[in-house]
This record gives sequence, C-alpha cells and structure tokens, in this order.
Amino acid sequence: MTHTRTQPAADLAALIETVQRNERALKCFQEVELRLIGAHDWGAFLEGAFVYLPEVLRLTSVTIWLDGRAPLLRDLLESGCGRADLEANLKTGVQGGLALSRLCVAHRPWLGRVSELDPATGETFFGAQAATGSAIVLPLVNRAQVLGYLCVASEDPERFDASMATDLLTRFASVAAASLDNVAHREHLRTTGVTDPLTGLSNRRYFDERLHQEIRRASAHAAPMSCLFIDIDHFKQINDTHGHALGDLALGAVGTCLKQHVRVGDTVSRYGGEEFVALLMCDLHDALAVAERIRRAIEAIELHDDQGARIALSVSIGVAAYQLNAGAAAAGTPEALARTLLDEADQAMYQAKHQGRNRVSLLAAHS
Ligand code: GH3
Ligand code: MG
Ligand code: MG
Repeated sequence: MTHTRTQPAADLAALIETVQRNERALKCFQEVELRLIGAHDWGAFLEGAFVYLPEVLRLTSVTIWLDGRAPLLRDLLESGCGRADLEANLKTGVQGGLALSRLCVAHRPWLGRVSELDPATGETFFGAQAATGSAIVLPLVNRAQVLGYLCVASEDPERFDASMATDLLTRFASVAAASLDNVAHREHLRTTGVTDPLTGLSNRRYFDERLHQEIRRASAHAAPMSCLFIDIDHFKQINDTHGHALGDLALGAVGTCLKQHVRVGDTVSRYGGEEFVALLMCDLHDALAVAERIRRAIEAIELHDDQGARIALSVSIGVAAYQLNAGAAAAGTPEALARTLLDEADQAMYQAKHQGRNRVSLLAAHS
C-alpha cells in the first residue's frame, strides 16, 4: 500500500524538478542568445560566446571551430577582432573540423565524456582542464550551411550525456548560427567601406549596387518597388546656428529614425551630406504611407541645443514607384530603370521643397 502511494508522489517530485531544471536552463540560454543577437561586431560576438556563455552556464571551456572556406567567415578570421585572448578560442584546422563533423551525425549535437574522443580532438577543443569532464559539440547551421561547431565542456563527467534531450540545444545553436551570419555580414559591410560611420547606414555606393540588384529582381517577378528621396530642410541653417557637431547629431538622429520606419529587406542609405534614400519593396500607395510616417516621426524628434532649446527638424520627401506589369518586358536596362526611378524621386523631392518643405510629394505626372 505504502509503495503505491509514495511512488506517484516521488514521480511527481522528480517531474517537477526536471521542469524546474529545464526552465532554469532555458532562461540561461535565452540570456546568452540575447547577447549574441545583439552583438554588433565580431568582438562583441566572441565576448558573448567566450566570456558570457561560460559564466552563465558554468562551463570549463568554450571553443568554436569555424569553416574558413566560407568567404565571409574567412574575412572574419583574417581581420580578427583585436583581442588575442578571445581569438585564442577560435579553431580552424581542417582535421579538427572533420573530426567534429563525424561526431555530429546529420548535424545533430553530440554529448558525452571528453575521454570518449580521440585525444587530439579532446585536447584541441576542450583543453586539459576538461579532459575528465563531459562536453557538447553543437553544429552551427544557418540556411542549411554548417558555419562551424560550438564546443563546450564541464568538469563534471556526468553533466552532459547522450541520453539528454537536445531540443533546447538545437534551438540555441540556430540562434547562435544566425547571429554569427549576421555579424559576418555586418563586418563585411564595414570593412568593404559601404557603411557611413556617422549614421551607421549604408552609403551611396552600396545603395546604387543594391538598387540595380533589386530592379532586376522586381523585373523578373513583376514585384512592386518604390524609392524615397529624403532631404533635411534648411540644414545649413542648423549648422550655422548651432555648430557642425550638433548638425552631425541631427544627421545621426534622422538616420536612426529612418531605420526604425522601414521593414527588414528594405534599404536605407545616406546618399550625400543631408540626403537619404530608401528603397522599399512595396507599391506607390504603401510608399506614400511610409513616407508620411517618416515625415511625422522626424518632425517629432526631440533634439536640443546646449541651452536645452528644442531644435526643429523636418524633411522633404520625394516618392517614385516602379512596377512592371506581369508578362511585360522591362523597358530599358536595370541601370537605366534605376536612374529613372532615382531621378523621379529626386525631382519629386525638389517639388516638395518648392511647395513649402516638410512634406511628401509625387511628380505631377503621377498624381
Ligand atoms: P534645403 O531645405 O533647401 O534642403 O536647405 P539646406 O540648407 O538643407 O540645403 P543646402 O544644400 O544649402 O545645405 C546642406 C548643408 O548640409 C550644407 C552642409 O554644410 C551640410 N552638411 C553636409 N554634410 C554634412 C555633415 O556630414 N555634417 C554636418 N554637420 N553638416 C553637413
Ligand atoms: Mg540637399
Ligand atoms: Mg537640405
């Protein structure tokens, strides 16, 4: 009798303990994920992986093997992050990578004792301290491509073993892999000189390249595409009255505001001094609505001078749209179409200036 009463209670207690343990683990993983997602550069990503991850999850060692054959990853490895202590935990050897790929059958995580591994692999990825402990090898897969392997170890030989559930781990690995890919793209933009340092937006060179690509894509799929040309009103006056440094601050604030008002997949660039362009994957009707939201948001920016007086900011926005009818052949080369679209948006912007500034305008022919 006693046995049948206490057994379910013991099962329940064990279940509750498992649930609580999983919840704690989930919370720890989420904390690290936020760090990795928020990493704006390579150094911040490596700090998340090699300093924060071992601290939060109480690990003895963390290393990452990266596939240096992927061009963006090779660039990361070559340019480095300026911190040798972090980079020491990055591994790239071909043999080591092969050994890890054999462990992770069908891109699944491997869990077990470090002593089960061949000595060279154990030493390379987990070091001497974890030789008697247990470890996880986690493939970092992004869009079906293995970017590398995250190797973590604990001194505790019982902590990780093959019977453990791996759903939390695979979720964490996919976030880590997407963050790695994102950082690689960011660093690529930065090192190839297409980012404007003042606003953090891409620059004119990048925009022109992107515009051609997108025109080709839009022509092939008969997809709508719109362009906004955005120019700050009386900006010279802001510089003249409050100084160039405050002018720079205003440019930064406008850049941030623009970024917040476009969707992922749209492109916003600083085209020139106080001129910005946005390429939106939507039709004229939606582009006008986005432009109007941007105009209002910029008007509402709170920028103050040294004395605390508010500095009024506004922009004039020209809108142009392009849509190829399904089945029709594109009228002109992508380069010519790109020029026309940009010219129209630019002319519409001048029209907005003439009409009194702080407004959104379309070319008369369109309206
Ligand atoms: P409008 O409403 O007609 O556009 O007038 P505006 O004063 O904005 O236009 P204008 O073209 O006369 O002046 C643009 C100013 O932008 C002049 C230039 O000094 C300033 N500018 C360009 N690049 C930068 C920059 O990087 N930082 C700062 N602070 N000012 C810049
Ligand atoms: Mg201008
Ligand atoms: Mg201006």
